[in-house]
Amino acid sequence: MTSRNELRDELVGAGYSVKYLDEWQPKTTLYRHKPLYNIEGSIIFDVGSTVSGVPGNPQYVLRKARIGLFNQPPSDTCECRWCRERLASSTPKRDGNGKFVKKK
Ligand SMILES: [Zn+2]
Repeated sequence: MTSRNELRDELVGAGYSVKYLDEWQPKTTLYRHKPLYNIEGSIIFDVGSTVSGVPGNPQYVLRKARIGLFNQPPSDTCECRWCRERLASSTPKRDGNGKFVKKK
């Protein structure tokens, strides 16, 4: 059994606000920060795609955070390991909405 404090610390560590524990909704939308591949290695769901209507309870979103799903769009300021890895590589930048930043 995870205590409320442990849950809070893990959620915050995963990029959620402390307030999430008091403000979560029964249903929420999560954003992929990590692409999902099929068995052949092709991308099925790309970074930035959403999964809507999932349970918003802290235990659930925390489980999803461990596999790269968060309640904020992926961005260059995101501190999750997938966004940091992407920034370290040469893939195009994304803005705060998870959209690619177009080169001028
Ligand atoms: Zn991220």
